[in-house]
Amino acid sequence: MNANQIYIGCHLSVTKGYAAMGRTMLDMGGNTFAWFTRNPRGGKSKDIDPEDAAALNALLHDRGFGPMVAHGSYTMNLCAASPETRSNGVDMLAKDLRRMALFPGNLYNFHPGSHTGQGLKRGIELIAEALNGALLPEMENLVLLETMAGKGSEVGGTFEELREIIDRVEHQALMGVCLDTCHVWDAGYDIANDLDGVLTEFDRVIGLDRLKAVHLNDSKNELGSHKDRHEKLGEGRIGWEALQRVIRHPALAGRPFILETPNEDEGYRREIRMVLDCMEGGGAA
Ligand code: FE
Ligand code: FE
Ligand code: ZN
Repeated sequence: MNANQIYIGCHLSVTKGYAAMGRTMLDMGGNTFAWFTRNPRGGKSKDIDPEDAAALNALLHDRGFGPMVAHGSYTMNLCAASPETRSNGVDMLAKDLRRMALFPGNLYNFHPGSHTGQGLKRGIELIAEALNGALLPEMENLVLLETMAGKGSEVGGTFEELREIIDRVEHQALMGVCLDTCHVWDAGYDIANDLDGVLTEFDRVIGLDRLKAVHLNDSKNELGSHKDRHEKLGEGRIGWEALQRVIRHPALAGRPFILETPNEDEGYRREIRMVLDCMEGGGAA
């Protein structure tokens, strides 16, 4: 990967299959994408046709895509107080990771979870325990914890919490972090005025080598609001100037950037173009 390279894309629907997502993203002008491994609100997942998976892998390779960033279900809560919710989550994680084996070298990201009243410490322990049950050393997909806004009882609203989860995982080489710009801003990390400071802090607490993907979103709310409401690029409180510094930051070069902004296809096409123009116009500094 080249220092000036940027991988940009958005979430796509998996309803037409896997290779179809790759073709859609090519048509949209991007070179990575995300999808929900199952219905974000439901929980069922269809079996993946291995030929479809192979066709997507060939397309990703031939067209120079960056790693894809699959997204686990929002209903997967590895630290829920309800034993039933938690065991459903543990089951989803194991199945999702087995399915990801069809896409070696790509990334699987999920929300660490909400401790629903048990406290952060217990939440962190339960998340790590679930990961220790699911991760096998031979896996060829990295598993990413997403930085969260710290809404309600969410775990992962601080870099320290993510670090504590990773510290408790046995197969740490499989662990990474996905930095969501809306979430870290809402959590109180001022990426608009002190991006260098936030990335230095990330490096100190977690290590930038673990930062494997970025969710590129503006935020509808103020710094530290703990709200988690995404906005289109440049139309929120973070602003386009600041987001351009994120896109161009040398410490983030080579990572896949995924848009999760409130857009339809046309809006995503436009934002993919904005990001590519920003990269071409500004160099890597
Ligand atoms: Fe997410
Ligand atoms: Fe996100
Ligand atoms: Zn969010």
